[in-house]
Amino acid sequence: MEKKTYSGFVALVGKPNVGKSTLLNTLLGVKVAPISPRPQTTRKRLRGILTEGQRQIVFVDTPGLHKPMDALGEFMDQEVYEALSDVNAVVWVVDLRHPPTPEDELVARALKPLVGKVPILLVGNKLDEAKYPEEALQAYHALLPEALPRKLSALNPKQVASLKAELLALLPEGPFLYPEDFAKSDQDFGEWVAEIVREEAMKRLWHEVPYAIATKVEEVAERENGLLYLKVVLYVERPTQKAIVIGEGGRKVKEIGQAARKQLEALLGRRVYLDLEVQVYPDWRKDPEALRELGYRSSLG
Ligand code: GDP
Ligand code: MG
Repeated sequence: MEKKTYSGFVALVGKPNVGKSTLLNTLLGVKVAPISPRPQTTRKRLRGILTEGQRQIVFVDTPGLHKPMDALGEFMDQEVYEALSDVNAVVWVVDLRHPPTPEDELVARALKPLVGKVPILLVGNKLDEAKYPEEALQAYHALLPEALPRKLSALNPKQVASLKAELLALLPEGPFLYPEDFAKSDQDFGEWVAEIVREEAMKRLWHEVPYAIATKVEEVAERENGLLYLKVVLYVERPTQKAIVIGEGGRKVKEIGQAARKQLEALLGRRVYLDLEVQVYPDWRKDPEALRELGYRSSLG
């Protein structure tokens, strides 16, 4: 008999510097470089995947909450609401060393419409350095009384473990959203890797070669030293584009490769060797077979 599985999305929100990335790293149990921001085109940005036994949490980011405080007001609230209304829990991180600021008030306001729809955990962080943690937590809690207050230090794995257990317990029954051994399910994995590399390339080449890049994973191999070897080909349509993608002295392709590798290492929690190659595939965009082969989807433009 198949065992039941549980899965869902958890959003990490909070103003800058409160410790969201630190908390995520401790939750995932790996020391990773900060993930470089992806273009805010999608409503959710994948930040990390936690699989434990029969339970899987996909941590996501909220684009709307990264905007500077400005007069967007209602519009921003709506955007945040749309991004978060289908997550299974929200973790709102605050800094217990200090009382709330207007930025925290803004986050609280954006979360308000979610009350009653999604559990909101108010995580008071930096407990290790807080002089008046209880008072601070109360002040934050007053901004959103329906949130469930917790205290911890993101640097303390034991304290984070109880938050992790609480989040894992909140998950509804459902299939895993990502394969448990992600790196071994070749088709999904290849597409996922190709998409991350393509995004990093597009971010840096948007003006020069819009829409003319496709990516394909050619090889996935386990290396003895625990390294995951990934060979990815970046396809362009013309030799002039190839020169642009490679850049002066190979600088551009190196930059793309480094950014993509960081993302992949952070998301996979392991070391990656990313072998990037640029190839010309004349007029691949007009060739249905090429489009199929490259797994090109309409959403890519
Ligand atoms: P983010 O901007 O919300 O992602 O915040 P970061 O995770 O980058 O953390 C901002 C700073 O706070 C970093 O210097 C962290 O080392 C520090 N930090 C995060 N959590 C804690 C904590 O629990 N205690 C202390 N003392 N520092 C923390
Ligand atoms: Mg961060």
